[in-house]
Amino acid sequence: MNDLDRRGGILVAGGGGFIGGWMTKEVIARGFSYVRSVDIKPLEEWYQVHPGADNLVLDLRNPDDCRRAVRGIDYVINLAADMGGMGYIEAHRANCMISVLINTNLLCAAKDAGVKRYFFSSSACVYNVDKQREAAVTPLKEEDAYPAMPEDGYGWEKLFSERMCRHFYEDFGVQTRVARYHNVYGPHGTWDGGREKAPAAICRKVAAAKLSGSGEIEIWGDGEQTRTFMYIDDCVYGTLMLMASDFAEPINIGSAELVTINQMVDVVEKIAGVRLRRRYNLDAPKGVRGRSSDNTLIQRVFGWEPRISLEEGLEKTYRWIYDQLVAGNRVSQVTQGMATPR
Ligand code: NAD
Repeated sequence: MNDLDRRGGILVAGGGGFIGGWMTKEVIARGFSYVRSVDIKPLEEWYQVHPGADNLVLDLRNPDDCRRAVRGIDYVINLAADMGGMGYIEAHRANCMISVLINTNLLCAAKDAGVKRYFFSSSACVYNVDKQREAAVTPLKEEDAYPAMPEDGYGWEKLFSERMCRHFYEDFGVQTRVARYHNVYGPHGTWDGGREKAPAAICRKVAAAKLSGSGEIEIWGDGEQTRTFMYIDDCVYGTLMLMASDFAEPINIGSAELVTINQMVDVVEKIAGVRLRRRYNLDAPKGVRGRSSDNTLIQRVFGWEPRISLEEGLEKTYRWIYDQLVAGNRVSQVTQGMATPR
């Protein structure tokens, strides 16, 4: 389906992370002649390590490491960022903003190396927060990012880096592609330790309650905040579709299946076969009140939008997280692996 030249070399930046691990797997499967996967974390902390890729531990905030990462590469997929769920990004705004060094230095290195395409993973957190104050949301269209008032810290970094991609395209001819992901979830992602997002956190809490027999779950906020959640396979498919296209403006890649957090808990309880007492923590980080993806543009340009249902995706995610808990696995804590910039 894609017109990227598979004889080319492809770099997955952030390949030790959740989306990066699945992306590396997919580009190997699609037969690219050379795949390089790069992450700052030691290899033993990568969610997935694929032997079919050249797996390197580099700090992409560092210009020399970026030059090494793009050497001989045709296509760059930048999924590297210091990020996490609401609990993390609201408490680590400076760390999130430092990710600007990754995109800046990687983009400069990509330009100098003459790469053919450069993908940047932006986020729904770029959207103006004033448009997300109601649970009964109007889905966010691409133009709703301006006038700019994004999520503090993380969202500002993403919006700035989007602009930089745009201007590298206009001024230097670097073929940049930008997706605004809306909540991505699935197995082999962060499910514990402070960076996890709502779907993984809820799967973990339900699994833990089932295993311990506690009969109770803590929910952040009143549970009536609304979101959409995209399963990882749709994210990877949509990203490579965009990467292969001529479409150079930022575009939503997100599900339009809107649910409240309470409804998501219902789905996970059904999968787990339990019913839990709900304890609402109104002081916990909640993020915006409501957010959904308007998929008019992606439908018009590509005739496609994410299609895997929440029930199907959560089933796979829950099973994986349950197995992690049973096996006694843990993931690294919030600040681990994040060295200070050199
Ligand atoms: P993740 O945290 O699992 O992966 C990011 C990876 O980047 C991590 O493995 C991390 O170690 C690595 N990294 C951080 N700093 C680095 C550095 N200096 N050098 C090299 N690697 C570094 O996150 P993810 O969910 O896979 O997200 C991937 C991208 O998609 C990020 O840019 C994120 O902001 C964006 N995004 C994700 C979501 C989502 O719901 N998962 C939503 C919107 C946008």
